[in-house]
Amino acid sequence: MTKRVVLIGHPVAHSLSGAMQQAAFDAQGIDAAYELWDRPPIRLAEAIGELRGDDFLGANVTIPHKERVVPLVDRLTEEAHATGAVNTITREGKRLVGHNTDVPGFRTALDKLVGKQKMPRQAVLLGAGGGARAVAYGLITEGFQRVIVFNRHLHRAEGMVKHFGRSAAHMELRAMPWHESIIEAELAKTKLLVNATSIGLTKDESPVPAEIIPPELLVLDLIYNRTKLLRDAAAAGCTVMDGELMLLHQGASAFTLWTGQPAPLDLMQQKLAEARAEGVRSAEGEPAGEPVGTAAAGSGGDPSPPDGG
Ligand code: NDP
Repeated sequence: MTKRVVLIGHPVAHSLSGAMQQAAFDAQGIDAAYELWDRPPIRLAEAIGELRGDDFLGANVTIPHKERVVPLVDRLTEEAHATGAVNTITREGKRLVGHNTDVPGFRTALDKLVGKQKMPRQAVLLGAGGGARAVAYGLITEGFQRVIVFNRHLHRAEGMVKHFGRSAAHMELRAMPWHESIIEAELAKTKLLVNATSIGLTKDESPVPAEIIPPELLVLDLIYNRTKLLRDAAAAGCTVMDGELMLLHQGASAFTLWTGQPAPLDLMQQKLAEARAEGVRSAEGEPAGEPVGTAAAGSGGDPSPPDGG
């Protein structure tokens, strides 16, 4: 029987995950099909219930369901529990286990962005959704000392900070109101800026005006494209990276959880690049800005990865 793995989100049309996961199943001789399920929030519980059937290996969960899915599974791994967000589901018999592979995906991207430089200790995080939770947890566990979170709806950022209360007890994790002057003041004090909002996902717009981006920042945009933010930051002299590497590594971790096999990383990266070249849009980061040919855009517009590798 062909096993099924589904991506549950809203929207999910033309996901890049489909291209890389299906190619990985086929290459490893795993008889499985990756399906896209567009389910609005009201149909999420029903969709999760279906996963208990024997034909399912598991699922990916994406925008906007990563937090809502938490109470719908039977067990959470440490990272899913710590973040309060689930992006991957596996089955243990009829029981569903929620994982968060965005966390290792983010760690890989951060390491690559920082390259041979010293790991910074301060960051500004834009966003407070499911993706932002993985970033916040990654920064907390990486030893960051000060992380300031800005979100359109302040109460959501405050809720996220409260959620991390105990795990962030050793450092300063603070929510601040989304005002340009406050963001500017915080950017001037920081070394790392992470965009985990969906601003730039469907329209060519940036969460921050170009004029307030200081040079020499490290800038990671979770969106899988060269967004306006990344173009503005590169023009200001920053080292920038888009969400491709995080997407690749969260997908590779998910593949291993479903199949018990190591992921064919090179093939998955190749399939991502092909899908991107074909202009396929992704639920994890739909291209809105110019397409780019590399996972990591370089410093100051240099197309090589930030560590020069
Ligand atoms: P959520 O729906 O959980 O959160 C969306 C976030 O974007 C919230 O902080 C929301 O703010 C903010 N936002 C949305 N629209 C606006 C707007 N018009 N103005 C200001 N803020 C806005 O989504 P996710 O956290 O799952 O995903 C967020 C982004 O990160 C997406 O672009 C997604 O593609 C990307 N992502 C990429 C990954 C990768 O592997 N590369 C992994 C995970 C996410 P508010 O709370 O105020 O509504």
